[in-house]
Amino acid sequence: MKPVVRKNIRMALFIILLLSAGCATVYNPATGKKEVIFIDQESQVAIGTEMAKRMEKEYPLYKNARATEYVNRIGQTVARAGDRPDLEYHFKILNIKAVNAFALPGGFVYVTKGLLNIANKDELAAVLGHEIGHIAARHGTKKLQTQLGYSLLSALIFQENNYKEREIARAANTAFNLISLGYSREDEFQADQLGTLYSYRAGYGLWGMLSFLKKLKKMEKQEPSLLKVFLSTHPPTSERIKVVEEEVKKLEQARVSK
Ligand code: ZN
Repeated sequence: MKPVVRKNIRMALFIILLLSAGCATVYNPATGKKEVIFIDQESQVAIGTEMAKRMEKEYPLYKNARATEYVNRIGQTVARAGDRPDLEYHFKILNIKAVNAFALPGGFVYVTKGLLNIANKDELAAVLGHEIGHIAARHGTKKLQTQLGYSLLSALIFQENNYKEREIARAANTAFNLISLGYSREDEFQADQLGTLYSYRAGYGLWGMLSFLKKLKKMEKQEPSLLKVFLSTHPPTSERIKVVEEEVKKLEQARVSK
């Protein structure tokens, strides 16, 4: 049999298997679209837990109880106002001077001490909202789904509950590499919109995201070394500012017409 035909048959079988396993399209409130999510929430959390362990092995945590409590309190408040409030969220600070923040699938969010040093409360709420937006819209999970091979994906989906440890570890490894490359531009813009919306809904200032991005823009000239990784994994700040300005305008109009 030709390899192409064999591949198509495997693909067809895979789809039949997925349908029979009850994997259907789900409405994603964060994106407003119907999407196919193969990796269920339990597996997303297991993969995220594995990635978080690796993250904390590679980068030291900033173990300041007050600061951690501050980030956690704001993060939990914004997460409850998001589109995936049922998930358990974990917010931690990495003891790194560079400015950065990121989300892992299943509810794990990290900010660096460098970011904490420059952001005020509203700005931090917006940044955490951006990361919660990635999780609510399942950006990491969707990226992972497209990259995992059939065998690993089906093992994740079909193996009975004896918890597929090896597959989870392999998936976490792939996800770790993918996420360190960053999300797509579209996903980043969407996370900016969602972060603006969620932090505003949670009661924080509407301008948090915008003033944070403007701060970054200034820093790009003054202290570019602290933004190297951040800038390499995000679209240009000036483009992000435009997207957020639109979102703020929309939310302001909605407030006025209420
Ligand atoms: Zn992002």
